[in-house]
Amino acid sequence: MPIDLHAHTACSDGTDSPAELMAAAAAAGLDVVAITDHDTSAGWAEASAAVPAGMRLIPGAELSCESPDGLGGTCTVHLLAYLFDPESPALKAEQSRLRAERRLRLRRMAERMAADGFPVDPDDVMDRLPADSPGGRPHLAQALMRGGAVRSVDEAFAKYLGTGSSYHVPRTDTPVGTAIDMIADAGGVTVLAHPFARRRGPIVTASVIADLADRGLSGVEVDHPDHDEPTRQQLRALAADLSLLVTGSSDYHGTNKTVRLGQETTAPEMLDALVDKASGAPVVVG
Ligand code: AMP
Ligand code: FE
Ligand code: FE
Ligand code: ZN
Repeated sequence: MPIDLHAHTACSDGTDSPAELMAAAAAAGLDVVAITDHDTSAGWAEASAAVPAGMRLIPGAELSCESPDGLGGTCTVHLLAYLFDPESPALKAEQSRLRAERRLRLRRMAERMAADGFPVDPDDVMDRLPADSPGGRPHLAQALMRGGAVRSVDEAFAKYLGTGSSYHVPRTDTPVGTAIDMIADAGGVTVLAHPFARRRGPIVTASVIADLADRGLSGVEVDHPDHDEPTRQQLRALAADLSLLVTGSSDYHGTNKTVRLGQETTAPEMLDALVDKASGAPVVVG
C-alpha cells in the first residue's frame, strides 16, 4: 500500500496541475498521496475532485518557518501540515502574508539578476505565476533555463539561487513554534520536513527537534531523497527517543526535480496515527 505524503503542484513550485498530480499518483501505483504545496491550500479543491477511484488524498501544505538552530542562531525549516481547516483565520492570514512576501522576494531576485545582465525579465517571471500563488526560486530557475543561462534547475540553484549567493533574497518566515500552534488550532497535524537535508543549508540540532516535539510536533520525515542512509538511521533513532511518528515521501515537484512520485513511502500505521490525531479536514476518498 504505497503512501507518499509530500508532493507539490503548479499551485506552488511543482509543474503538474492538482488533477495531473492525482493522475500521476495513480500511474505510480500509489494508494495514498498528500498535496503539500508551499504556503497555500489553493490546489485542494481541484485535487479532491480528481482523486481516482480507490485512492485517498491527504490535503496538506508545506510551511516555510524560521527556527532556532540549536547553536545560538536561526535557520529555515519546513513544516508539513496535514488535515487542517484551511479557513482557520490566523492560518489563512499568515499563508496570505507568506505568499505576498514570496512574490515580492522572487521579483527582487529576478531584478537583481536582470540588473547584472542575466536573460530574465522580472515582469515575465511574475506574469507566469497564477494569481496569489507562492512564487519560489524554482520559477526563477525556469526563467534562467528559458534564457539559456543554465541547463537545469539544479544548476541554477548551485550557481545562482542558493542562500549564499549575492542574488538570494531572504524571506521573513513564520516562527516554527507559532506555525505548529496555528496548525494545531486549525485541527491539523505537523511533521518536520527533511530535517537533516544538509545540502539545502544549515539544519537544526536534535535538541531543537526535541523542543518542537514538546511544542506539539507529531512526526519527522525520515525517508526523503535528501537524506542519506546514515542520516535516516540517526533520525529514526531520534524519532523513537522522542516518540515521534516517522514518514517517508518523495517531495515530488513534477519536472522541477528528478525525484519520482512514490520514490519514498510512509508505513500505513504511521499514516493512521497522523489521521487519528487530526480533525480539521477529512481524508478525501476517491
Ligand atoms: P524557495 O521556496 O523560493 O525558498 O525555494 C526553495 C524550493 O526550491 C524548495 O521547494 C525546494 O524543493 C526547491 N529546491 C531547493 N534546492 C533545489 C535544487 N537544487 N534543485 C531543485 N529544486 C530545489
Ligand atoms: Fe518546493
Ligand atoms: Fe521542503
Ligand atoms: Zn516540499
